[in-house]
Amino acid sequence: MYELIIIGGGPAGMTATVYAARKKINTLLISKDIGGQPLVTANIENYMGYQFIEGPELMQKFEAQIRQFPVEIKNGVEVKNLAQIKNGFTVKTAEEEEFQAKTVIIATGKKPRPLNVPGEEKLRGRGVTYCAICDGPLFAGENVAVIGGGNSALEATDDLIKIASHVYLISRSSLTGDAVIIERVKGAPNLTILLNYQPTAVGGTARVENITVKNLKTREQQDLTVSGIFVEIGLIPNSDLVREIVPLNELGEIKVNCANGTEVPGLFAAGDVTDVPEKQIIVSAGEGAKAALQAHRYLQRLNEAS
Ligand SMILES: Cc1cc2nc3c(=O)[nH]c(=O)nc-3n(C[C@H](O)[C@H](O)[C@H](O)COP(=O)(O)OP(=O)(O)OC[C@H]3O[C@@H](n4cnc5c(N)ncnc54)[C@H](O)[C@@H]3O)c2cc1C
Repeated sequence: MYELIIIGGGPAGMTATVYAARKKINTLLISKDIGGQPLVTANIENYMGYQFIEGPELMQKFEAQIRQFPVEIKNGVEVKNLAQIKNGFTVKTAEEEEFQAKTVIIATGKKPRPLNVPGEEKLRGRGVTYCAICDGPLFAGENVAVIGGGNSALEATDDLIKIASHVYLISRSSLTGDAVIIERVKGAPNLTILLNYQPTAVGGTARVENITVKNLKTREQQDLTVSGIFVEIGLIPNSDLVREIVPLNELGEIKVNCANGTEVPGLFAAGDVTDVPEKQIIVSAGEGAKAALQAHRYLQRLNEAS
């Protein structure tokens, strides 16, 4: 039985790992990837110590720091189930491997919110994408649609107007991103902004061929011929693992106290998956540190009691 299992290898999980290792806690880190959301972030200008750094490079530095310690790391592994047992927790992976620990830190972050329209799931990765930075260059010279009206959608639009033949920016309301970036993209000759429109279907057989959008005022529908659809409508927390065990807030985020504890003793959470306000790398890293230190205190109390 491990003393601690950390689920998630983003900024929160990796920082928790370093703090746990320095306390010599017998730790297992399990994650689908090492890096999390910063792996798809081009420019970071607000992580202290670096005036500018690309997300993947910052995460390489985090990884180098965790690899200094003799911590067991299972990368490329998805946790499918978490259950309470008498003296701790059981963690089951997608490959049906099972691990036990006295304490667990959930640091599973967030994932892109899907459109939830017919055709989206079938054509995911075949024209439907959730990462403009990663996939934008694949659509050079083609027609694409960006869905959303916030900063992520506008950043994607700003990238894509330089690459694609034509870009449709489709938002169900007005644009809510920063004025600076709205000004930057607005006049582009290859951009059509459709406000008060909502996607209703994604069409195509082997790959995306079109998107159907509905005018929310007139209820009229129209098909736009596109080969790429960039979904940029926000993120949802990866909290399904604990949905049945601890309370979530209305956004699906895990409720934690100021010491990163949940309602279940020994179960801690940190980073974007929690209800702590402000989803940022520096915040997640700090919360990961706190969670590991609290897990250490909890383990000390267990040892003293036994
Ligand atoms: C496009 C974009 C730009 C951003 N720009 C900035 C910026 O400039 N500055 C800034 O400070 N922040 C920025 N952010 C926010 C920042 O990336 C997040 O706040 C931060 O990454 C959260 O860290 P985290 O460790 O909590 O979660 P995440 O980074 O989401 O990491 C979660 C980890 O958990 C893993 N995981 C999830 N579920 C499971 C499971 N079931 N089993 C195993 N592993 C699992 C994931 O694979 C991942 O490794 C940006 C985010 C995005 C999307």
